[in-house]
Amino acid sequence: MSTSATRILRERIVLIFDFDDTLGPSTTKTYFDHLGIPYADFAARLEKRQEDMWQYPLAKADLLREYSHREDSPITRKSMEAFGRKFPLFPGADQLVDCLKKYAADRDEDVRLEFVLLTAGFKTIPESSVIGEQFDRVYGGELEFDHDGRVLSARRVISHVDKVHYIKQLVEGLDLDKASELENTYIDHDPKNNYVPMAQVVYVGDGSSDMSAFQVVENGGGVAVAINPEGDDWENYNNMSRGRRVHNLEDADYREDSDLVQTLKLAIDMMIARIKLLRLGADD
Ligand SMILES: [Mg+2]
Repeated sequence: MSTSATRILRERIVLIFDFDDTLGPSTTKTYFDHLGIPYADFAARLEKRQEDMWQYPLAKADLLREYSHREDSPITRKSMEAFGRKFPLFPGADQLVDCLKKYAADRDEDVRLEFVLLTAGFKTIPESSVIGEQFDRVYGGELEFDHDGRVLSARRVISHVDKVHYIKQLVEGLDLDKASELENTYIDHDPKNNYVPMAQVVYVGDGSSDMSAFQVVENGGGVAVAINPEGDDWENYNNMSRGRRVHNLEDADYREDSDLVQTLKLAIDMMIARIKLLRLGADD
């Protein structure tokens, strides 16, 4: 029997998705548009804070705090959750989990698909959406609210580089609520105990902010899929070094006959074949 850590048998495939511009439009802008609050002002102030060396998620949380404390502000936990429930996802995204689970079950009923949302944004709105209901796990930044539902501060932030730690620790089977704790980062981890091999991970994201995630997944033999925003040319893509480019660049269309869903199905086929091969080895 093989004892190689890279060849451990795990009968699961983990599909990790970014949220903003991957499964739906930009959360904060769409929310502001919905409330009738000018997003451009918010964005300009956010940019100014970044010039002043604020970290992006902390600047964003602090501005949300200020906006939500304005008199009669509609920015509350309740309105975020209500908006999340009707969040306009990209076409077919609400059918994706069922579609892919059925596809995988038809090929091998013992292989389990697991869907994970990993957003560097705040998760209140995504978590309330159809995705939040259908996905197995949702990780993202978190806001702290007061008893009236106004934003007080950030209680957890996930930066784009933190995403790599989350992905690695997910693969290792560590508790991701402690992703930044010493016990997760300094622990001696035996790869034989991995939750899933990286080669059975699919990562779907939308652009330069997902670059480190694409890289860690592809280097481990997994599949990275980049979403091409609104069918346009991905402006950063051609400037990217060849080694950093992902294999698959697809439009944000999750309907069953789309190229994106075909790509995801091919990735699942490949991973199921890998699992079957490992099963044969395990029987020896
Ligand atoms: Mg994104």
